[in-house]
Parts: sequence; structure tokens; C-alpha cells
Amino acid sequence: MEIKKYGERILRKKTRPVAEVNDEIRQLVAFMVKEMYAHQGVGLAANQIGIDLNLAVVDVGNGVRILINPKILKAEGQTVEEEGCLSLPGKFFKIKRPQYVEVEALDRFGRLKKIKAQDYEARAFCHEIDHLNGRLIIDKAGFWQRLKYRFKL
Ligand code: ZN
Repeated sequence: MEIKKYGERILRKKTRPVAEVNDEIRQLVAFMVKEMYAHQGVGLAANQIGIDLNLAVVDVGNGVRILINPKILKAEGQTVEEEGCLSLPGKFFKIKRPQYVEVEALDRFGRLKKIKAQDYEARAFCHEIDHLNGRLIIDKAGFWQRLKYRFKL
């Protein structure tokens, strides 16, 4: 499946909340995990495959995390690292993110769970939650980095 790329409208729209975690949603989650691995990603948001739902999957090597209607409850610390995105292939931007986050989300059974993450995983959570709110890494990149990207300098 083709991943939606920078410039496509659906990536810029805040996604709709998942109303009910049912078998369809569980199938979608399984499909998204497969697609994430197929594209060598560490995260994938539903709108990146053209589906307007507030749902993302993440696996930075700690196992699959499912984020359904995720909300950041707490964010602490700060780190700056280069970050890429399947929707901006081959581009990397230095992005400031919290070092630690606590996220509340529904799991695949519709249970509200609190997930704690740090470093790379916290970064991936924030990246995916940004997607679900219609934001991309280029929005957070510095002015000069954005300019370089826009004008292909
Ligand atoms: Zn991304």
C-alpha cells in the first residue's frame, strides 16, 4: 500500500476519533502494523494510508504499541534528534521532542490504558500523535531547514 506523501490533503486534517474499538478496527490495526514493517517504519498513523481515524501504531523495538484516540497527559525533558517520516521520504529534520511522555489511549480491546515512554519511543509517540492532528515534522523544523526543503537548496 502506498503511503500518503507531503502535500496530500488528508495528512493536514485532524483525524476523527475512533467511536468504537470493534473487529474492523482490530483488522485495521493488524493491517497497519504489517504496513509499518513493510515500509521499515517505526510508526504509522491511519491518515498516512488514507484513513481518517485517530489511530496509530508504533514499534521502535520494544514491541507494538497501539494508540487509539491517544492523548498526551504528561511530557517532560527535551531532546533534539534527526527525525524522518514515511510521508517525507529521504528527508530528515532536527526536531525537539520531550524526553519522556505519558500517553493515554485505548488498546485493541477498547480499554483505556496509560503508556509511559522515553527517548526514541517518546519521540515516535509524539511524531504519530502530531500526524493524527494534521502536523508533520517539517512544521517543527527550523526556518532554514524548511526553506531548504521548499526550494530544494
Ligand atoms: Zn511520519
